Amino acid sequence: MQEIKVELTKHPKEKPQDQSKLGFGTIFTDHMFIMNYDKGQGWHDARIVPYGPLSLDPAAMCLHYGQEVFEGMKAYKAADGRVLLFRPDKNMARLNVSNERLCIPLIDEDFCVKAIEKLVSVDKDWIPTAEGTSLYIRPFIIGVDPHVGVHPASHLLFIVICSPVGAYYPEGLNPVRIYVEQNYVRAVRGGMGFTKTAGNYAASLKAQDEAEKQNYTQVLWLDGVERKYIEEVGTMNVFFVIDNEIITPSLQGSILSGITRMSSIELLRSWGYKVTERQLSIEEVAKAADEGRLNEAFGTGTAAVISPIGELKWGDKVMPINNGEIGPISQKLYDNLTGIQWGRLEDTHGWTVEVK
Ligand SMILES: *Cc1c(COP(=O)(O)O)cnc(C)c1O
Repeated sequence: MQEIKVELTKHPKEKPQDQSKLGFGTIFTDHMFIMNYDKGQGWHDARIVPYGPLSLDPAAMCLHYGQEVFEGMKAYKAADGRVLLFRPDKNMARLNVSNERLCIPLIDEDFCVKAIEKLVSVDKDWIPTAEGTSLYIRPFIIGVDPHVGVHPASHLLFIVICSPVGAYYPEGLNPVRIYVEQNYVRAVRGGMGFTKTAGNYAASLKAQDEAEKQNYTQVLWLDGVERKYIEEVGTMNVFFVIDNEIITPSLQGSILSGITRMSSIELLRSWGYKVTERQLSIEEVAKAADEGRLNEAFGTGTAAVISPIGELKWGDKVMPINNGEIGPISQKLYDNLTGIQWGRLEDTHGWTVEVK
C-alpha cells in the first residue's frame, strides 16, 4: 500500500459555534486528501494537505465534458467518543462501478477506505456532536488533462473533502411533499443513472427548480422511456408500503444502488417484513392511494437517512400519505439505522468501522 503523507495546516479555521445551524455542505474542515493519477504511473502521491482551492488549467477536461464521479458518506461521533463510518467499503465499491462506466481508472478500494479513515482522524475535532449532526465526506475524481477533446482523461485527481452537517432537509424527519415529474427525465437505461456522476445532477436541476417553485421539496422521477415506472426521488431511493408489502424499484440501470436502500432492505427483511424489488408504476401507487392501501412512502439516502413522504402530486392528483405524518415503518427504520450509525444500538450486522 502507498504511504499517505500528512501536511497539517498552520492556520486552523474556527469551528462552527452553533451546531443547530449547520445546514448542509457549506462549511469545510481544515484538511483534504488528494492523490494523482497519471497514465503509466497509476494512482500516486497520496497526501493529506490543508483544505484550499485547486489550481486547474482552464482546458481541464472535467470542466468541459463532465468526466467526474463522486461519493457521499458520513462519519458519526458516538456518545462514548468513538468515531464511526457506515459501510465505507460499499461506497468505494460503488465508486469503482461509476469509474468503470466513465472510463476512469479504478481505485484501490481498501486503500481509499484507509485514506478516508486517516483524513477523518486528522479532522476528527470537526465532527459535530449535536443530535442528528455528522461529518459529511465527499470523495470525488476529476479528469484534468488540459485538452479540449472528447476522450478519456490520462491525468486525474482523486480528492476527499469533509463538511460538518446538520439535517439535509430543513423539514428534518418531518414528511416532505414530492412532485411527480412528467416532462423531464433524469436518466435512461444505458445512460449513467446507476453512477454518481455530475451530469445526472445537472440533468435534474430544472425539474427540481420547478418543483420548488410550486412548494414541493423534491421530484419523483419516472422512467425515461414509458414515463410510467417510479425510479427515485431527487438524491434518494424510494420505498412504498402498500397493504403489507414494502416495494422499492428494482435496480435496472437507471437508478442508483443506494447503500441506505440496501441496508433498509436488509433490516426490514431481518424484522420479517415482505420487501419486494420490482417495477412499480405511478398508476399502481395512485390506485392504492385511492383505495386507502398506500400506508407509507419514504426516501432513503445518506444525507437524510430516511425521509418520510407526506404528499405526492401527480398532474392534478394530490395524494396525501398517512395524513402527512411519519409512519411506523419509516420511524422504525430511521431509529435503527441512525442508532447503528451513531453507535447507540449494537451493530449486529458489522456495518460500522471505527476510526482510530
Ligand atoms: C446518493 C444517491 C442515492 C442514495 O444513495 P446512498 O448510498 O443511500 O446515500 C440515491 N439516489 C441518487 C440519485 C443518489 O445520488
